[in-house]
Amino acid sequence: MDLIDQPLEFVPLEGLRFDNRFSSQLPADPEIENKVRQVQRSFFSRVHPTRTANPKLLATSKEVLDMVGISEAEASSEYFSQVFSGNALTDGMDPHAACYGGHQFGNWAGQLGDGRAINLGEVLGTEGDHLMLQLKGAGRTPYSRSGDGRAVLRSSIREFLCSEAMYHLGVPTTRALSLCTTGDQVMRDMFYDGNPAYEIGAVVCRVAPSFIRFGNFEIFTSRGQIEELESLLKFVIENYYPHLGEPSPETYVEFFRRVVDATAEMIAHWQRVGYVHGVMNTDNMSIHGLTIDYGPYGWIDNFDADWTPNTTDRAHKRYRFGNQPAVAHWNLAQLANALVPAVHEVDPLQAALDEFMPSFNSYWAEMMASKLGLASLASDPANELVAELFDLLHATETDMTIFFRRLVDIDISTEPELATVETILPLEEAYYVPSDFHGNSQGRLLSWVKNYLHVSQLSGVEAAERSLMMKAANPKFVLRNYLAQLVIDAAENEDISMIHEVLDVLRNPYDEQPDYDHWAAKRPDWARHRPGCSMLSCSS
Ligand code: AMP
Ligand code: MG
Repeated sequence: MDLIDQPLEFVPLEGLRFDNRFSSQLPADPEIENKVRQVQRSFFSRVHPTRTANPKLLATSKEVLDMVGISEAEASSEYFSQVFSGNALTDGMDPHAACYGGHQFGNWAGQLGDGRAINLGEVLGTEGDHLMLQLKGAGRTPYSRSGDGRAVLRSSIREFLCSEAMYHLGVPTTRALSLCTTGDQVMRDMFYDGNPAYEIGAVVCRVAPSFIRFGNFEIFTSRGQIEELESLLKFVIENYYPHLGEPSPETYVEFFRRVVDATAEMIAHWQRVGYVHGVMNTDNMSIHGLTIDYGPYGWIDNFDADWTPNTTDRAHKRYRFGNQPAVAHWNLAQLANALVPAVHEVDPLQAALDEFMPSFNSYWAEMMASKLGLASLASDPANELVAELFDLLHATETDMTIFFRRLVDIDISTEPELATVETILPLEEAYYVPSDFHGNSQGRLLSWVKNYLHVSQLSGVEAAERSLMMKAANPKFVLRNYLAQLVIDAAENEDISMIHEVLDVLRNPYDEQPDYDHWAAKRPDWARHRPGCSMLSCSS
């Protein structure tokens, strides 16, 4: 459906009901002028989105429309595109930008805040839950620093599609309700090389229980504002963790323990599907363990634990694929530090933090067992099998997604010692360089497969069950970097049909969908070094 081509008319958004807890229970910035400044002792600043010249709706997510209670008719109305590009406010909205700080690339960066995101308010979802609606790219706020408060089409398409792709992959994430162009031009120096150019402006409406980040706590502790730190903890306990009991140092620790666990699970999923966030600063870490802030992220094509899509991180590769668990742990340590003044003791927080690696390892082992179709990884041979697998994948250019997806096609009843080239043929497609599959390294692959057959047969998972288990853990379709770029290229040439098609295919990433095999293909050669496909800047 091309929403952009539909006749637009005024249909009120009757399904939207607001209950704004964040902006009604926590103190607002008393200053109301929208100018860049340090905001003290306040949780947010009220600010209106900036009007846009000519908003047009490009896409919505039907699942998220359902969640927030907006009908398809309402979503295709003129009013919807006005509201979700920031040109109109509905009854009950209380637009505001949140104050937070953060550690960026390992260093304390001070106040950051919503520099281009504006929360519209918390809608009561159809499931009875509270969902914050947030426009990204809606104009300047007191937290914009030197930025323009805007977002461009390419990065907005990437955020819109990836949020929904991650959800359908089963990875905890913030969601995306809508994607609009604004009709305004936005100046960006995409390569940071002194050649700025105008790009198409866009706004995504994101949805999450809250957009509270580790940095919302860190900012108060860094300023010695302990009363505010405690107010935020109280708010979070009362609204998101009421079952933990009355707010107290004990429940604060319990809350932290939940964040540790949810973060461990989220990161295990990232490693399972081959997702690299790219900017795991503490201001980009959600307290709900949701993937948040889709910027210069990327997907692993050929397996390389050292790969980062973010050109800003090229020197140190802090946020490389293989380092994501360690960085999450480090980020949680920063959150723990920020909570110390409210908990009054270090030890219980340290104990909770120490649970991160065991917890991550346990989620990861469970997911990895499913990826391999094994009952568990709880044996030495199974662990050796996994270790050798990642060495093997690293040694030659091997597509991670295809390799795991095609592993299911290995005939598991083959007698290990009788395995031949024929047995491993399903894996051929995963190799970028044909001679890597046919040449000298084939012996190593074959010997790994023999071990795999052996461990699988010992594990005793039946063939049918194995297939189901593996297909549910190994997606066929992910938002490959080149695929997102194809969508962007088309949209920048005013063809938005691919946004809808790709969104549709990514709705069922574990299904075969043979008509779309070309979007499950390995990265084509043209994309190997193309910006947007193999490397991304933070310019967005
Ligand atoms: P990010 O690296 O995207 O998480 O952004 C870090 C900080 O920079 C956040 O406080 C953002 O709100 C802010 N920021 C990023 N881009 C812009 C922009 N174009 N205008 C204003 N603030 C921005
Ligand atoms: Mg951010």
